[in-house]
Amino acid sequence: MTNVKPIIIAGGGIGGLAAARMLAIKGHRSIILEQAPNFAEIGAGIQLGPNTHRMFDRLQVTKAMHEIAHFPENIIMLDSLTGEQVLTMPLGQKLESHFGKPYAVIHRADLHTVLYDACKTMGEIDLRAGVEVSGYTDTGDGVTVEIVGGQTIEGSALIGADGLWSKIRAKIIEDGDPIVSGHIAYRAVLPINEVPPELDQWMEDVVLWAGPKNHLVHYKLRRGELFNIVAVFHSQRYVEGWDEYGDPEELYEHFKGTRPEVRALLNKIDVWKMWVLCDRIPVKEWTKNRVTLIGDAAHPMLQYLAAGAGMAMEDAVCLVDLLETYDGDIVRTFADFPGKRYMRTGRVQLTARFYGDIYHAEGVTRELRNLMLSSKKEGNPYAGIEWLYGRNTDLPGGA
Ligand SMILES: Cc1cc2nc3c(=O)[nH]c(=O)nc-3n(C[C@H](O)[C@H](O)[C@H](O)COP(=O)(O)OP(=O)(O)OC[C@H]3O[C@@H](n4cnc5c(N)ncnc54)[C@H](O)[C@@H]3O)c2cc1C
Repeated sequence: MTNVKPIIIAGGGIGGLAAARMLAIKGHRSIILEQAPNFAEIGAGIQLGPNTHRMFDRLQVTKAMHEIAHFPENIIMLDSLTGEQVLTMPLGQKLESHFGKPYAVIHRADLHTVLYDACKTMGEIDLRAGVEVSGYTDTGDGVTVEIVGGQTIEGSALIGADGLWSKIRAKIIEDGDPIVSGHIAYRAVLPINEVPPELDQWMEDVVLWAGPKNHLVHYKLRRGELFNIVAVFHSQRYVEGWDEYGDPEELYEHFKGTRPEVRALLNKIDVWKMWVLCDRIPVKEWTKNRVTLIGDAAHPMLQYLAAGAGMAMEDAVCLVDLLETYDGDIVRTFADFPGKRYMRTGRVQLTARFYGDIYHAEGVTRELRNLMLSSKKEGNPYAGIEWLYGRNTDLPGGA
């Protein structure tokens, strides 16, 4: 395949690296163009459901990922006004026996490094940082990718893995800017020995404190050495932003009235990074001839289902599986790809919105939420999430 031009990937985040790695495993060359000066990740912890671990197997990075991840025991939802334990979903051995794969949490930077290191070792992958894609021209039998500064790069196809504000998407789908949810996430990471003692009983769990128009999530990271904190609240004050610094005073104001454990944790942090959370309405088409999208560029979602990185990796695996099925026929592969994915990714997009409403419920809705969720004690604790964590038969290569 050496005389075929490489596939160009715009964006070296989790989706872009996964796509390059998967292509290389199947012998295809690619060039990843990343606008940041270095291949690095910002942000804090992310949760990785069992479906994500099947992708690690396919990407052949399971061992490296296991060495740096943390494996919590339960997901616990507490009411942040009363401290009532609303819901417990066991993780650990019980979840692993059920789904055949574990549940982990990992620092985004660690996951990114695992994928980056796996790409670096492969001769099929050309990693270029500090290169911002500004546009492309589809020439019919290839693509010419335009770079800020005037350079162009020729490829056989283009995969837009350039995230929420994708420039590639803008040329394929005319649905304007992402939808600003009005939900703001403040994120921080603490050294584990600085976690206040009020939280001692939940150190091995992923904990979500649900409050009126706000919630707080915390869990251990990096083999248990760090503690990840995400505080989310409703505010119309921000329009867009990524990796900005948050205002602690505003955060405390939104969480006043919550349990002392919540406030003790918030008080520990002086410097918060802030995300304005956005998503889009699902679409069923995101390919145009030799150009397609993966990850947040194709189907950005609110993070309430903790599934965006997993969807980006599934996209990468599905796309390359299809390419193999169609014997390297890029146009046919790209044409069929969104059809294989949009029902699943769209379901995540819409369910994430619904979960956000449940976490942030107030008044009678909050009382009903607590009643309905806490009464679900019998039966399969994973019934509601089976569709996401269970085996995904849509992936042509299986998983
Ligand atoms: C607060 C928060 C919590 C989250 N928690 C979880 C979780 O627990 N579990 C989970 O699975 N997911 C989680 N997610 C979602 C997850 O982070 C994203 O879905 C995932 O990062 C998408 O990967 P991606 O590669 O598609 O996009 P991105 O990670 O956004 O990567 C896009 C890359 O493209 C580059 N780029 C952009 N434009 C250009 C350009 N023009 N030229 C070149 N390069 C470009 C960017 O610099 C970036 O490196 C969370 C998200 C947020 C905001």
